[in-house]
Amino acid sequence: MWMCSICGYEFDGEEFLNEDGYVCPLCESKDSYRKRDMSMEIEMAVREIKNND
Ligand SMILES: [Zn+2]
Repeated sequence: MWMCSICGYEFDGEEFLNEDGYVCPLCESKDSYRKRDMSMEIEMAVREIKNND
């Protein structure tokens, strides 16, 4: 899963890969997105739950 850091558009796979790299289909910005790290998001969620305890 990839997510554009400009507009927040999420997408799977490599369908937007071209010779310049990934281009966001929504805002057409290049190199603006990062791979979503699910393990990190889970860890943050767990931490939040612990803080609420
Ligand atoms: Zn975008």
